Amino acid sequence: MARDYYRILGVDSKATDQEIKRAYRRLARELHPDVNPDDSAQERFRDVSDAYEVLSDPEKRRIVDMGGDPLDSSPGPGFGGFGGAGGFTGGLGDVFEAFFGGAAGGSGRGPRSRVRPGNDALIRMQLDLEECAAGVSKEITVDTAVLCDKCHGSGTDGDTRPETCPTCHGVGEVQSVQRSFLGQVMTSRPCPTCGGVGEVIVDPCTKCGGDGRVQKRRTMTVKIPAGVGDGMRVRLAAQGEVGPGGGPAGDLYVEVVEREHEFLVRDGGTLHATVRVPMFDAALGGAVSVPTVLDGQIEVEIPAGTQPGDTRTVRGHGMPQVNGGVRGNLVVHFDVQVPAKLDKRQAEKLRAFKELFPEASPSVARRGTDAHEGVFSRLRNSFAGR
Ligand SMILES: [Zn+2]
Ligand SMILES: [Zn+2]
Repeated sequence: MARDYYRILGVDSKATDQEIKRAYRRLARELHPDVNPDDSAQERFRDVSDAYEVLSDPEKRRIVDMGGDPLDSSPGPGFGGFGGAGGFTGGLGDVFEAFFGGAAGGSGRGPRSRVRPGNDALIRMQLDLEECAAGVSKEITVDTAVLCDKCHGSGTDGDTRPETCPTCHGVGEVQSVQRSFLGQVMTSRPCPTCGGVGEVIVDPCTKCGGDGRVQKRRTMTVKIPAGVGDGMRVRLAAQGEVGPGGGPAGDLYVEVVEREHEFLVRDGGTLHATVRVPMFDAALGGAVSVPTVLDGQIEVEIPAGTQPGDTRTVRGHGMPQVNGGVRGNLVVHFDVQVPAKLDKRQAEKLRAFKELFPEASPSVARRGTDAHEGVFSRLRNSFAGR
């Protein structure tokens, strides 16, 4: 059965890429093995990762939307997803295969090879923003198919040899005439007995059951370069899964899932920090200690006369680029704070202070002046959902 990837992620079938990504990140934070080591959470994490892998890839998502399952690796004829997998009723499925070339090697070119390349594998790795900035070497555990060390991929037991398939006599496919809405269509399908390879293994290897590969868990160290970000992938050539019959291994991709930072917000190479500035410090000036990703805390000056919404850019304290190059900047946003509550003595003092500014009183800002524009651009931004 095709899995309901939309339901696993808790999004509906019209969800945008952004919504899918957001749903995935929320669940990953909750279920990641680093955070939640219990077995059921790990199982759900795998499901959620699968769902994200599928729905974030337009090709795979299309297969899901057509009723298939791009991750369905059930053995048998056809290719990943369509061949006999739930979604299509017999005749129509064959027509699909006939028109989309789905039946791999099933168009009169003889048996296909039993040895086929392996699939790529994808694992996700959660990284702190600091780790994304500095780069990191981490140990990962992957659970993929590796070459069977008993038969070395041949799939046979000892010295036995595969025999010619009795159903297709070695051709690898069987033909049938189908009635369909297109009239009579001659279709050839991969032979159901041998899966299209034209031969059968009579004495399969006792370790791998004839597949030529076995599932194995292994650990390896992955080096993640400095400057990576959410969704970036590091490719480890030939570390994916070994193919059927011991075919060449696919690649392993490690995809970065960036954890949110406690204080900093990343926008590409730029980092943003917000500093709350009591109005007294805004008026008088001062300094504040701000965390960075690579250099610990740094002092950032608050200029005297800082206005609400003012920013200060600290060059070179943003994120590095993956390929070297100029580091981004850190933008510090000043959020000027007005006391919400004054006791009697404070109010008295402030009133006395106010008397030093006889010209200062509330007034309606003329359109086009700074004060007017400041407020309205902020309003516009808040309407725009920012
Ligand atoms: Zn074997
Ligand atoms: Zn056959």
